[in-house]
Amino acid sequence: MQYPQEFTKLYIGPSGRPVDCPPIRRTTGAIESCIEHGWSTMELSFTNNIYIKEREAQDVAALREASAFPLSCHGSYFINLASEEPAKIAQSKARIIQGARRIQQCGGHSIVFHSAFYGSMDPADVTSQVIAELSEVQQQMQEAGIAVWLRPELTGKPTQHGTPWELVEVCNAVEMALPCIDWSHMHARNNGGWNSYDEWCQLLELLGEGIGKNVLQRMHMHVSGIEYGEAGEKKHIPLPQSDLNYRELMKALKAFDVRGTLIVEAPDENQAGDVDLFIEAWESA
Ligand SMILES: [Zn+2]
Repeated sequence: MQYPQEFTKLYIGPSGRPVDCPPIRRTTGAIESCIEHGWSTMELSFTNNIYIKEREAQDVAALREASAFPLSCHGSYFINLASEEPAKIAQSKARIIQGARRIQQCGGHSIVFHSAFYGSMDPADVTSQVIAELSEVQQQMQEAGIAVWLRPELTGKPTQHGTPWELVEVCNAVEMALPCIDWSHMHARNNGGWNSYDEWCQLLELLGEGIGKNVLQRMHMHVSGIEYGEAGEKKHIPLPQSDLNYRELMKALKAFDVRGTLIVEAPDENQAGDVDLFIEAWESA
């Protein structure tokens, strides 16, 4: 199977375009703006629609390659691979493939998505179903010549599929699947747990040993300040207002020689400040 790009270091950048970059500058302008900020990656938000057309994607791919700027996308919010309605499962798979095709045309490496809700199903059955559906997605992508990583996300609510242990199972069963590790979601879905150096090392060890595939040097991650409660994630908040122990997190990533991409999902009003805080914490870790 053909794999997308490899990573020589950890790239850090925003989710979505820099907020100070006007939309008229399109996606190539957003990449240039990131570079001006000193940011080295970005995640395109295909969450509500795939807003980049095929022709624009060619320009994005050329700039991406010339500036060695890794690109990922967040797929549609309307995905549930364990829906009770078969039509919704088919739509979910089509949405993943459409997003994967476009991010590949942009020269990107990964599509992130929230796989499923447990609903009334047993979590283990949901995992089996996610594996079966993603295997079909992978098959169709292969037939269409689309080679990007499928990144089921570590999700922020206990009602959503996507614990680290579930992601290990999925990534073992589906060759093109690697996790999107959202550290803030792990903290939020456990109502404030998982917020220490030792716990993060434990998770990194689980991924490295459980998945193989050189996963720790092919990581894709999300982080943000986060507000949470009994039901998990509430909303993203500016990093300085959150209790996330992000400096210790950066130390754990460094201890495991983690490479790949770290996407900072900050609220707009604090985007630049939060991305810069993570870069500073990584460099001084
Ligand atoms: Zn997400």
